[in-house]
Amino acid sequence: MENECPQCKQAMQWREGEYVCQVCQQHYLKHAYCPTCQSPLEKLQACGSVSYFCHTCNELKSKSAVQIAYTAVGQ
Ligand SMILES: [Zn+2]
Ligand SMILES: [Zn+2]
Repeated sequence: MENECPQCKQAMQWREGEYVCQVCQQHYLKHAYCPTCQSPLEKLQACGSVSYFCHTCNELKSKSAVQIAYTAVGQ
């Protein structure tokens, strides 16, 4: 499932730039990492589709290949 809570695995809601788990009452930020070198990726949006660019590898990474991590936002 897309955008599931890292703690309870329930679907999270997108609200004001953050993901919100209503079960845990926790807000998260979503980060994408390079599957090759683990560097943070820059998100690129074009024509309604999302892709990611790694400045270390100097190449585009497909959305399905990137590693997604959620970091909890302080309450
Ligand atoms: Zn949760
Ligand atoms: Zn990379």
